[in-house]
Amino acid sequence: MDYKELIVESGLKMLGSGMTIETWGNISCRDPEEGLVYMSPSAMSYDAIAPDDVVVCKLDGSVVKGHRKPTIEKELHLSIFRERPDVNAVVHTHPLYSMVYSCQGKDIPMLIDEAAQVLGCVCQTAGYALPGSPELAKNCMKALGQKANACLLQSHGAVCVGQSMEAAFKVAKVLEVTAQIYYMIEATGGKPINICGEHIVMMQDFVKNHYGQDK
Ligand SMILES: [Zn+2]
Repeated sequence: MDYKELIVESGLKMLGSGMTIETWGNISCRDPEEGLVYMSPSAMSYDAIAPDDVVVCKLDGSVVKGHRKPTIEKELHLSIFRERPDVNAVVHTHPLYSMVYSCQGKDIPMLIDEAAQVLGCVCQTAGYALPGSPELAKNCMKALGQKANACLLQSHGAVCVGQSMEAAFKVAKVLEVTAQIYYMIEATGGKPINICGEHIVMMQDFVKNHYGQDK
């Protein structure tokens, strides 16, 4: 797979999805065979990034290939790859409805079946830290833990992870739809009904082991 091309395409996809605007957000992926991490460059328009602008580095942060400065959230991405061997892609977005909750330091519960199936567990909000700081990477890891596929960064955005880029994008979309539904429930004076733990476990098992044409 051409991972540089994957970063370029994914940047355009993120921009087109409306989950971020301008040059905000960032994307990375890991080549599971070589262990190298590919990430988007800092402060470049997604529609201007070419494959050679993608920065390639090792898990310790040393740059192997690339002439651009990497995303300022390099340490956040690398922390996730170091601590979560199950993750090969990270998508950091600034999505509107999810941010309604991140700005209040609130978590997003698994309100709908899709959320129960793909978010891993409740989406927690990581405590505030400055963009690009080592504290933000630390707070993000604390909120993600070993099981969650998404967390919010207080007053900043969302971090979504997956075994592949496609999986990370699915998490990002489901998180934002869940946040939108949560917002609409609260805006209409309602109260969500939680899906019980037993059903969540059953759905996660079904998706992992039985759902799909090849299972
Ligand atoms: Zn950001």
